[in-house]
Amino acid sequence: MNGYSTTIFEKNSECGGVSYAWKRGDYTFDGASNWLAGSSPASSMHNLLSELLDFSQLEIIDPDIFITVEHQQSTLNVYCDAEKLKEEMLRIAPEDFRIIKKFTDAIKTAGTVSLPYSKPPELFNLWDYCTFLFSQSSFIRFFLKWKRVTIKKLSLEFKNNTLRELFLRIFPRHEHFSVMSVILTLGWMNIKSGGYPVGGSNKLIELLVKKYLASGGKLHLHTEATVINVENNRVIGIRLKNGDNISADKVIVATDLQYTIRHLLSDQKITSNIAQRCDTIPVFPALFQVSLGVKRTFCALPHKISMTLDETIDMGEGGIFSEMMVRVCHFDPSLSRPGTTSIIVQIRIPQYQYWVDLRNSNYSRYTEEKKRIAEMVISTLERRFGSIRSVIENIDIATPATFIRYTNIFKGSYQGWAPVPSMIGKTLPKTLKPVKNLYITGQWVWAAGGIPGVIRIARHTAQIICHNDKRKFSVR
Ligand SMILES: Cc1cc2nc3c(=O)[nH]c(=O)nc-3n(C[C@H](O)[C@H](O)[C@H](O)COP(=O)(O)OP(=O)(O)OC[C@H]3O[C@@H](n4cnc5c(N)ncnc54)[C@H](O)[C@@H]3O)c2cc1C
Repeated sequence: MNGYSTTIFEKNSECGGVSYAWKRGDYTFDGASNWLAGSSPASSMHNLLSELLDFSQLEIIDPDIFITVEHQQSTLNVYCDAEKLKEEMLRIAPEDFRIIKKFTDAIKTAGTVSLPYSKPPELFNLWDYCTFLFSQSSFIRFFLKWKRVTIKKLSLEFKNNTLRELFLRIFPRHEHFSVMSVILTLGWMNIKSGGYPVGGSNKLIELLVKKYLASGGKLHLHTEATVINVENNRVIGIRLKNGDNISADKVIVATDLQYTIRHLLSDQKITSNIAQRCDTIPVFPALFQVSLGVKRTFCALPHKISMTLDETIDMGEGGIFSEMMVRVCHFDPSLSRPGTTSIIVQIRIPQYQYWVDLRNSNYSRYTEEKKRIAEMVISTLERRFGSIRSVIENIDIATPATFIRYTNIFKGSYQGWAPVPSMIGKTLPKTLKPVKNLYITGQWVWAAGGIPGVIRIARHTAQIICHNDKRKFSVR
């Protein structure tokens, strides 16, 4: 799009990285792409996405309910419509009218604010700052009001214990995140611009690859880079796992900063202390994922449920877990054949290292542990949904070690840096001194990741490259 000749080297046999949905027999197991912020022109993010995604090829579903939370005997339907959500929360806790209104009003406002993306902050001059402050004043005010409030802190404002518990379970293990991340997500859904793309992750990836190849990009799958070659502090290309050296004027990495510095640039003296800093920045948790292909339909069930396991899972050093997120994929016929359903169950696990060490040190125990936990998950599903075990046609169990093995993802984190108050709105470096012509993109330069987030960052990285080369940036 900007006159550069580019090649992507991807270590896996398919594109998609952490967003990739894998096929097992007739089933597609898609744990990612729950929603796409900017899915309709109602949000300004849509213009950004449209630069790369051909929306005429995409069918979007706007669900009525984002997630159903079940805890003990109570249920909270998190409606995408903010007014309906307000009514639902008031049904449980009329005494919390004030805080419920404050929360749902914020959701209504969030849909109307536009997230700035047209220019990367690195290229801002004084005029840009002044224009930004003036034109985005409503966004800035909103941002400052909510940025510091964590999910936990807001939950403590509810007098009603049931509502508080249900609220915390909308995003389990995310209670330290800024509530702004929740408000923005629900804000896009409220204006019907946070829908689900039919075909899920793989459809999005297919469209992105199509656009890239049509623009003249070259793609090498199953090709792992092991070293970024540098001479006199200037990038000269990469070395592949098979030993081949590929020359290049510039290298753009989408891996995390630690991996980039400690593996791909291990021979270089990076002056930034960012690799050490990375250890201290909170990330999204890793995932234990049980994917089931079942010969049954569940049309009457909610499509996404946050629920409690019948028995607490005690993994010793791996942690203690009692909640799971269940995705019943009956809403997308492309994910399994008629009369069958893909079910994805995710347990969020910060202790990723436990699984990596167990797999390395005792593979048979690792396999047994996987099966034991999957059994506990299936028992809970069976109690809640009726017969499941007897109709399972396909089962796939992924641990944090699986995600790391396939994508090199930092700490097994499913979505990069956590949007905690100290990180929200912050940009990490897109270059690494003193190495010239090396650029960083993807979810590791901006908290909260997400498909629109990484498209925004990729645009900014491309803009910086064009700026450095004195080229006019173009999106055509
Ligand atoms: C379970 C789950 C649910 C999610 N839900 C949503 C959602 O609903 N909506 C949303 O917008 N986002 C969602 N996300 C987040 C979103 O998918 C990610 O933020 C985004 O895909 C990250 O893209 P990336 O390119 O930055 O990183 P990655 O996907 O990690 O891409 C990096 C790529 O580099 C490759 N690679 C690594 N090392 C090497 C090497 N040495 N050589 C060659 N290639 C290498 C990897 O294989 C990978 O393909 C979800 C993610 C997960 C896992």
